[in-house]
Amino acid sequence: MELQDIVALDQKYYMNTFGNRTPLMFERGQGMQLTDCSGNVYQDFFAGIAVTSLGHHHPVFTADIKAQVEKVLHTSSLYYIENQAKLAQLLVEHSCADRAFFCSTGAEANEGAIKLAKIYFYKQGKPEKHEIITLKQSFHGRTLATVAATGQEKYQKPYQPLTPGFHHVPINDIEALEQAAGEQTAAIMLELVQGESGVHPVTKEYLRAVKQIADRYGALLIVDEVQTGMGRTGKLFAYEHYDIEPDIFTLAKALGNGVPIGALCAKQKVADAFAPGDHGTTFGGNPLSTAAGCSVMKILQQEHLVENAAEMGAYFMEKLQQLQQTCADIVEVRGMGLMIGVELQDGQGAKVQQALLDAHYLTGCVAGKTLRILPPLIITKADIDTFMDTLTEILTK
Ligand SMILES: *Cc1c(COP(=O)(O)O)cnc(C)c1O
Repeated sequence: MELQDIVALDQKYYMNTFGNRTPLMFERGQGMQLTDCSGNVYQDFFAGIAVTSLGHHHPVFTADIKAQVEKVLHTSSLYYIENQAKLAQLLVEHSCADRAFFCSTGAEANEGAIKLAKIYFYKQGKPEKHEIITLKQSFHGRTLATVAATGQEKYQKPYQPLTPGFHHVPINDIEALEQAAGEQTAAIMLELVQGESGVHPVTKEYLRAVKQIADRYGALLIVDEVQTGMGRTGKLFAYEHYDIEPDIFTLAKALGNGVPIGALCAKQKVADAFAPGDHGTTFGGNPLSTAAGCSVMKILQQEHLVENAAEMGAYFMEKLQQLQQTCADIVEVRGMGLMIGVELQDGQGAKVQQALLDAHYLTGCVAGKTLRILPPLIITKADIDTFMDTLTEILTK
């Protein structure tokens, strides 16, 4: 089918939650590249919103999930699942968590984290300790509880009344957190680099204060690693940059490299609050999605992709900061590893993103001003250099 026919079908039959999309349809991918239905090749510097970290059609990953498809796709968690147990082991052995639980999306992982924090205190006979503090400009998902957790009014307004018990404080503002926290606080939940609102990292000093305040009230620390996890920031998990261990952290996006899977990971004493029947899922952790997760973990290690993310992220940031010296349109370069935001003068962000698209580079843009760069972790210096040549040309002409 031609692209215009697909657009017509979409406009007639698909719910209009995405509006007018970028008029492209990709048919094939290979490494950093995506090929559209007219045969044009694009360089993917967005990885489907930080999902396809191994790049497209990674030969080992493709073989691993193909092998699983030929065995069995789904059995339900009424039975034991080898890949599920193995992926839980892999995540636990490489993190501060003692237990994992699998679901299908980031929002669902965060719902699980919120439920776990609540039941943890409920089972201690403290149901009044149920408030959760999150950050303004955060993003935790689209379900009702995660929309309530998300500190952005635009996502909340039509869905009132929201799940109660969420309080939002500004990022990196210790005083505001001091005021919001108390004996009623069950958890403080945050992203360590806010992705959807324009790539804003939490400072080390702030996270240290968050941990102290949580400890003072016996509240849990929940880190949403849905976007920052799985090597994106140059460590397997972003909390490793901060020398602080969360009680609960969540994963999704890159965990399955495109096969939908999320994870809820927790310390033993917290995980113990879930008894049989307290939480569940039909699809979560099925043989296919956990085969994908195991394969991602294996390939990250074999190809040293987390280290590559750290190295290439530093190189990319350095090049962008050099460009900033000579280019007044760049207001700020922010990020961690390969999670990068380039804030441009008002109105420039969308224009620069479009110019990059015209040059066949896929990137993201927040609020028309911050260019978001989230390439696959397999990226090389040569890929970055050619991107920088194009960006320099766009910004200096
Ligand atoms: C994308 C994202 C989510 C939501 O994940 P879905 O899979 O879309 O439900 C939650 N938290 C963060 C930090 C995200 O980036």
